[in-house]
Amino acid sequence: LVVLKDVQKHFGDLHALKDIDLTVKRGEVVVVIGPSGSGKSTLCRTINRLETIDSGLISLDGKELPQEGKTLAALRAEVGMVFQSFNLFAHKTILENVTLGPIKVRGMKKSEAEAKARELLERVGVAHQADKYPAQLSGGQQQRVAIARALAMEPKVMLFDEPTSALDPEMIKEVLDVMVDLAQQGMTMIVVTHEMGFARTAADRVVFMADGAIVEENTPEEFFTNPSSDRAKDFLGKIL
Ligand code: ATP
Ligand code: MG
Repeated sequence: LVVLKDVQKHFGDLHALKDIDLTVKRGEVVVVIGPSGSGKSTLCRTINRLETIDSGLISLDGKELPQEGKTLAALRAEVGMVFQSFNLFAHKTILENVTLGPIKVRGMKKSEAEAKARELLERVGVAHQADKYPAQLSGGQQQRVAIARALAMEPKVMLFDEPTSALDPEMIKEVLDVMVDLAQQGMTMIVVTHEMGFARTAADRVVFMADGAIVEENTPEEFFTNPSSDRAKDFLGKIL
């Protein structure tokens, strides 16, 4: 569903993504881990072209992602993204946050978008907050709204970039639970996270990055019990 071939990205002198080859199949959950600065966020951002690439190819569902233009907007709408900071629209209600994309980008009728939004808010457990504003919600609740907002666009793939790292410990689980649900329902997901519990239980595959390159790709069992690279061993030694 998502294919990256020989993707290169530089920031000035820094080679931020090196020869990235990655294929994510439909329904697969891929967890990306690695030290700070290894290029995990950059990788996510190139997948929906929030970041341009120098060379290589990125395709979504068989269609190559163009660098810009209308086709890009259309393809980008098929990639849902959830960041560390929830970045909901502060001056819109929770319901409006979720209906905005479907109405503006998908041309959905307001009544239809609202019905769907309420269903999604129910699914992530914040239905009773629909008429509040983001600042009135906890971080965990806001992040679940951000997930609902992304899902409202009916994306083909969901990208999560450290979705729980800005949350207090007691709120992490409620967000991870929503993500595990989503994974079990067959959503294709690429998840950057330091939550090793999530990686072990929900991931089909772990991708380990260091210095802009994919160093190792393995099943979670194999990766956590028997990492093959020294970089991964070193990293796991520090965090586990
Ligand atoms: P973290 O775990 O801290 O989030 P990361 O693996 O997500 O790290 P990236 O944010 O992808 O790392 O950054 C990879 C490298 O690219 C870093 O050295 C970073 O400083 C650099 N970088 C990222 N974005 C830019 C930018 N817009 N301009 C210049 N350098 C950048
Ligand atoms: Mg990052």
